[in-house]
Amino acid sequence: MLRCEHLSRAYRRGGGEAGEVEALRDVSLHIREGEYVAVVGPSGSGKSTLMNILGCLDRPDSGVYCLHGRDVSRLEGSELARVRGEEIGFVFQGFQLLPRLTAEENVALPLLLQGVPARERLDRARALLTQVGLGHRLRHCPAELSGGQQQRVAVARALVRSPAVLLADEPTGNLDAEATGEVLSLLERLHDRGRTIVLITHDEAVARCAERRICISGGRVQP
Ligand code: ADP
Ligand code: MG
Repeated sequence: MLRCEHLSRAYRRGGGEAGEVEALRDVSLHIREGEYVAVVGPSGSGKSTLMNILGCLDRPDSGVYCLHGRDVSRLEGSELARVRGEEIGFVFQGFQLLPRLTAEENVALPLLLQGVPARERLDRARALLTQVGLGHRLRHCPAELSGGQQQRVAVARALVRSPAVLLADEPTGNLDAEATGEVLSLLERLHDRGRTIVLITHDEAVARCAERRICISGGRVQP
């Protein structure tokens, strides 16, 4: 499903080659359909840089990234954005829900932008919210939901366009222990139903919930 070969990515600091930070160095990895993988490493190890490339938000300087059988490592902005919309479902640490929209409107929003008719949008949003255990909170706004519930709405929204991969960047970073358990058990359930999940975290305990761990340190994948 995702295959990276010899990816590298450097950032230029203050202009000039002298200030380069090599954020990823020769990263190769392979994630199969239906796998639940955690990418784990300390702060500054290159997790966000890798996540940006896996999520088609950024391109590597060198190396190949194939997503769902297609080499996307050289795509230009608008093409990359299209692949991102179709293939990737994002979940972020801060939920990133729109505060004035209800749970079902938040989940339906990506379909609105895609031109799906209203009836179908709401049907899909409600089905997904029910799947994440929020069938009784369809009309609540984010401020009326707990942190764990908000993150479950965000997971439902990430799934609404049926992406190839669910990419979650520190999804429990803002949550207390109980809400963390809620979100991790949801990811576990989605994995049981065949979803491909990549969970990015600095937290070893969170990473242990995945089926497999890829450890990254100093921009390199550890053997
Ligand atoms: P993590 O998400 O694991 O904390 P990052 O991928 O954000 O790590 O960062 C990896 C390295 O690249 C760090 O040394 C960081 O300081 C550096 N870095 C990240 N983003 C930039 C940027 N936009 N410009 C310069 N350096 C950056
Ligand atoms: Mg990061």
